[in-house]
Amino acid sequence: MWKGIRDRIARSSLLRSLRVRIFLLLVIMGMIPGIVMRVVLLHNYEERAVNVKISEVSNQFKIIANHLIYYNYLQDTSSDVINAELDQIANLYDGRVLIVNKGFKVIKDTYGISEGKIIISEEVMRCFKGENTTHYDGEDGFIEMTIPIQRVTGEESSIASVPAEGVLLCSISTDNIQLTINILEKKAFLLEVMMYILILLISFAISYVLLVPFQKVSHAISEVKEGYTDEALSVPDYEETEHIVDAFNQVLTRMRTLDQSRQEFVSNVSHELRTPLASMKVLADSLLMQEDASPELYREFMGDIAEEIERENKIITDLLSLVKLDKTNAQMNITMVDINELLELLMKRLKPIARKDNIEVVLESNRPVTAEVDEVKLTLALSNLIENAIKYNRQNGWVRVSLDADHQFFSVAIEDSGVGIPESEYEQIYERFYRVDKSHSREIGGTGLGLSITRNVILMHRGSIQVSSVEQEGTTFLVKIPLTYSK
Ligand code: ADP
Repeated sequence: MWKGIRDRIARSSLLRSLRVRIFLLLVIMGMIPGIVMRVVLLHNYEERAVNVKISEVSNQFKIIANHLIYYNYLQDTSSDVINAELDQIANLYDGRVLIVNKGFKVIKDTYGISEGKIIISEEVMRCFKGENTTHYDGEDGFIEMTIPIQRVTGEESSIASVPAEGVLLCSISTDNIQLTINILEKKAFLLEVMMYILILLISFAISYVLLVPFQKVSHAISEVKEGYTDEALSVPDYEETEHIVDAFNQVLTRMRTLDQSRQEFVSNVSHELRTPLASMKVLADSLLMQEDASPELYREFMGDIAEEIERENKIITDLLSLVKLDKTNAQMNITMVDINELLELLMKRLKPIARKDNIEVVLESNRPVTAEVDEVKLTLALSNLIENAIKYNRQNGWVRVSLDADHQFFSVAIEDSGVGIPESEYEQIYERFYRVDKSHSREIGGTGLGLSITRNVILMHRGSIQVSSVEQEGTTFLVKIPLTYSK
């Protein structure tokens, strides 16, 4: 049931407003005490007024009961004094008085209706045993009482031990109590209405003031939506608004960084793509300018143009691989792969390139290794590293690839006898389009994207890559990848 109510509240558009909820809460909390106080006070007043009336009337009737004994009224009802007294008291309390004798016969009724009748009610019986009874009927507005008529000499230990000779049965009106209650109720209602108006005004003001800082936050965020500002937002009014704004500022900073790196990337990409095109244009233009160029010259220039086209193609292929890997939910096609076999195949494919510069390529495998990896992606990563080791090597140099494993990881070390990397560049080499020696890298057909792709692939396998190098002596890349893939 509560869930249903909660859902309905959540769906109601007005109640979704925190301001309206706070307002309603304050109004309810302000009104409940007023209502409770009115009900409790009026009930208490009624109880007290009835009790006072009962004790006042019962005292009066006790005196009359004594008079009845004194005038022997139970035996002879002709006493004018008593009759007048009874009529007077009945009038005074706007009620009726009956006197019942030992035979349960009504010997006097101030209304004159029931005289001679027999009354055997529970109250009368109890009263004959010496017990006063009272009964208040709030709905019809009267109190009913019975008072024993006893001959009390003053020597008895208790009145209850004296036998009752008759019973005084009276009912008195409580209209005046009800009247006072009605007046009080009206006054309380007026007071309550005034209080409610005050509560409504105060609740409205409080709910408005309390939410002003949140309005400031939303206003500041809307301003940011229209265009980034370099300023950080600040709404220090509450701890809560401070937290929201802090989180928002963090997101903003991240967005700015992303925006900056996106801009850098786009300008790098266009620059890189334009370079081979510019070379091709220069080559084509110079051929066109020479009217009687020899077929050999054409062949040479066309060869150069083909090389540039090849370069452009490589950049685009690398960019596409990078974009695919950059997708946050890039698909991993994990299978159990024999890493020794994978490396052997790679070496076989790369040996012809190494042969050009007479570079010796060796594979040292310390143990058979099988691991859960994405074969295509890992081949791409390792082939980039081995290709680099060959590309940035010297004539007659060497490349050593060694494979090892423990119970958790397998590691591939790729060592070379090449130009080396300055220590200050260890971090930058993984950035897109970054090259240590730009002209040399371009000469040998580098795009500056290889290591960025490699690191992405290794991180996707929850692995790590480290570089150590001595300039002009050689470089070692160490790759460590878990044997079992975990998402
Ligand atoms: P590129 O396509 O230019 O090789 P990479 O991202 O693969 O791009 O490498 C970035 C840069 O790191 C290279 O330009 C090169 O200067 C340097 N580098 C990478 N591997 C080696 C290596 N084995 N020896 C020396 N320098 C290297």
